[in-house]
Amino acid sequence: MTWRADILTLFPEMFPGPLAFSLAGRALARGLWQIGARDIRAFAEDRHRSVDDTPFGGGAGMVLRADVVDRAVGAVADGRPILCLSPRGERFSQDLARDFAAGSGLILLSGRYEGIDQRVIEARGMREVSIGDYVLAGGEIAAMVVLDAVVRLLPGVMGAAESAREESFSGPLLEYPHYTRPAAWQGRAVPAALLSGDHAAIAAWRREAAERATQTRRPDLWLAYQRQADLTPSQPVASADNAP
Ligand code: SAM
Repeated sequence: MTWRADILTLFPEMFPGPLAFSLAGRALARGLWQIGARDIRAFAEDRHRSVDDTPFGGGAGMVLRADVVDRAVGAVADGRPILCLSPRGERFSQDLARDFAAGSGLILLSGRYEGIDQRVIEARGMREVSIGDYVLAGGEIAAMVVLDAVVRLLPGVMGAAESAREESFSGPLLEYPHYTRPAAWQGRAVPAALLSGDHAAIAAWRREAAERATQTRRPDLWLAYQRQADLTPSQPVASADNAP
C-alpha cells in the first residue's frame, strides 16, 4: 500500500506546494507517496458554509467548529494517525518523523484563527503536534514541514548512500560541516584533513567537528551525549535491579 497523506485545510490549493519539488516532488511523481487535500469548508452544512464560531467564554478570534471538522475527518479516517497541527502540541522531531514514515500514512488537520474546538481533537484521538515554539497563522506550513521530514525517510525516496549517512538527529551529535570546491575561497581554506585522502584522518576530523558543533550549539544534546557515554560501560553495571 502506498504511503498517503491527507490534509484537512481551509486552503487546499496550497498543496502540494513546495512538496511538488525536489526530493519529495520526484518521489511523488514516482508514486512513492500520495497526497490529497480536502477543503474543510466543503463539510459545512449551513447555507453560509460557516466553519467557525466565536469562543465560549468570550475573547478575540474564531474557533473551528467540532461538527464541521468531525465530518471532514470522517471522510478520510481509515486508521492512519490523525495529527492536529498546534503550537500546544508535542514537539515534532526526527524520531516522530521516523515513526510516521514507518506507518501507512498520515491525516493532518490544519487549524486557522484561534484553533479548533478541543472536543473533536479528543473525540477523534488526534495527536497534537507542534513544529516549534512560535505561532504561525495557520497549520498548512506546519503540515508541509512534517511531510517534508517524513517523506524523505520513506523507502526508496533517498538513495542508499544518502539514507545510510549519519545526519543530524540520526545519532546523538549534530552533523559536521561540509565543504566543496574551490579549495581556497576568499582567503578561507578547507580544513586540511578533508583534503588529505586519509580516511581515518577525515573520520576523526568529522567526529571532532560534530562534537564541537553539538557542544557549542546544542548544550542539551551535548549533555545527553556525555551522559550516554558515561552510562555505556564495557560491563553491565550492577544495580539493585540487575544484580545477580
Ligand atoms: N490560539 C493558538 C494558541 O495560542 O495556541 C494559536 C492558533 S494559530 C494562530 C492558528 C493555527 O496555526 C493553529 O490552529 C495551528 O494549526 C497552526 N499553528 C500555529 N503555530 C503552530 C506551530 N508552532 N506548530 C504547528 N501548528 C501551528
